[in-house]
Amino acid sequence: MGLLDGKTALIFGLANERSIAWGISKAFDEQGACLGFSYAPVVEKYARPLATKLGATFIEPCDVASDEQIEKVARKAKKYFKKIDILVHSIAFAGRDELKGHFYQTTREGFRTAMDISVFSFVALTKAFQSFLNPGGSVMCLTYYGSVKVAPHYNVMGVAKAALESSTRYLAYDLGPKQIRVNAISAGPIRTLAAAGVGGFRDMYKHFADISPMQENVTTEDVGNAAVFLASDLSKRVTGEVLYVDSGFNIMGVQMGPKGEKSGGK
Ligand code: NAP
Repeated sequence: MGLLDGKTALIFGLANERSIAWGISKAFDEQGACLGFSYAPVVEKYARPLATKLGATFIEPCDVASDEQIEKVARKAKKYFKKIDILVHSIAFAGRDELKGHFYQTTREGFRTAMDISVFSFVALTKAFQSFLNPGGSVMCLTYYGSVKVAPHYNVMGVAKAALESSTRYLAYDLGPKQIRVNAISAGPIRTLAAAGVGGFRDMYKHFADISPMQENVTTEDVGNAAVFLASDLSKRVTGEVLYVDSGFNIMGVQMGPKGEKSGGK
């Protein structure tokens, strides 16, 4: 018996098999969920075959910068599924130029775009789908530690993730009375397409395992399993939270560099 038997999940943000959305999709599938997908129109070639692999037949393009496209996909999903239980937002975007150099060089347009695609879209999707989310339903998004501490080069995306986490709390408050929960997963660095756009990502990724208590990088499977918890009834009274899936990286106040005393344990 799967933890998500009888539940329907709609997943936004599948680009390819490195995507966090793919790790989540596989974990949901293993736990018995029925899956539907929406992807950015430009990744059709990669996303559609993956979604089909998991038996999905609801696979719709949607550029979340467009209110019309969000409304359209919500209308189609309502017609197709009638009701859904789980909504996953695994989407972010900022121009490459914004993810290197000084934060103060962020442009007005770059700031607007990052906030629109990476934050407002979460609010807009929640609004579009809330009327046909079942009570007991779960909405989630993906965030990163650069929201609360400075991660060099992450810049405007750090500010956007702070707004995303705050939006998670406000949405949790709004949807609480309907018994719908809203949470965020804060994942450690994972080598995906989106991450490749962040200046210095390679170094950050490499040093992560040296610094985090568990001394290991995070995988999309790790995030998928945490997403199963948030999607399932096991987390029935958990809402408005940011769940860290980062080998404990966020608890560190002082970074000791290459593994300190713990290295003997490996
Ligand atoms: P990814 O595979 O590149 O996924 C990002 C997705 O956002 C892509 O499918 C992308 O489509 C989509 N997207 C961008 N603009 C869009 C738009 N206008 N409309 C619809 N979709 C759009 O990278 P990922 O790392 O899995 O990212 C998923 C989420 O995890 C993001 O919120 C990211 O910030 C978060 N996260 C990632 C890490 C990490 O280290 N990788 C860590 C913590 C949190 P396109 O490819 O067409 O742009």
